Amino acid sequence: MIEELVRLIENSDSIVALTGAGMSVECGIAPFRGEGGLWEKFNPEEYAHIRSYRNDPSKSWELFKLQIEEVTDAEPHAGYDVLVDLEEYGLDSVITQNVDGLHMRAGSKDVIELHGTLSKLKCDCGYKEDTSEYLDEILENKVPKCNCGSYLRPDVVMFGEPLPAHAVERALELSRNCGLMLVLGTSSVVYPAASLPVIAREHGAKIVEINPSRTTLTGTTAHLSVNGTALNVLKGMTELLGK
Ligand code: NAD
Repeated sequence: MIEELVRLIENSDSIVALTGAGMSVECGIAPFRGEGGLWEKFNPEEYAHIRSYRNDPSKSWELFKLQIEEVTDAEPHAGYDVLVDLEEYGLDSVITQNVDGLHMRAGSKDVIELHGTLSKLKCDCGYKEDTSEYLDEILENKVPKCNCGSYLRPDVVMFGEPLPAHAVERALELSRNCGLMLVLGTSSVVYPAASLPVIAREHGAKIVEINPSRTTLTGTTAHLSVNGTALNVLKGMTELLGK
């Protein structure tokens, strides 16, 4: 299967990667769903919905703090470097649902963050600042405040909020125009990200998913489903590329 994937990469000149929480699992960052997922401990309605944040920011900050801590401790694994190397083989962009900033840290040149990022904090007044500037307060369980008096929150999309329009437009455009889409570590149940492989396929792209479990794409939208973890499959792939 990895050989088939390598053949597809070598025959495509416009490749897009779509990544989800599974891409970062091997960096020590928990996914939302499944075993060990954050939703086992945090009810999304209570902690991750914009309504609950407005009612009680300190409760949502229990989840934000955990996510920020995980991301601060994590480093991109070797699979991230493989995606950077794939730029030589025609990988144009990475569309990610992840908010951990790891593709940027690994050096991918064009990253579209559909759900925002934990690496910035923002306020309703328009103020934005690097999360690192507030890290000490956050780790002391304080909820950081803006100079205007309101609470700050990570620049991520919470349930009940729209996705950044520019990111969605770019993701749609890339999906319509790519020849190959690699879908890594996403359960493909969160929309609109889940519709991107479907749109890409409708526009003639080949779809390959890399995931240790079956997803909504398996046997439907995906032409090829490579069963394995992102790290193992990407590493296995580089050994064959260019040979
Ligand atoms: P998800 O939690 O719904 O699904 C994770 C998928 O990854 C599953 O299909 C699982 O089988 C697969 N997976 C698990 N381990 C893997 C591995 N080692 N290699 C490859 N795949 C593996 O995640 P999702 O589909 O991305 O969608 C849900 C939301 O999760 C997104 O909105 C995203 O913002 C958010 N999220 C992001 C992070 C992060 O930034 N790292 C972490 C948790 C959740």
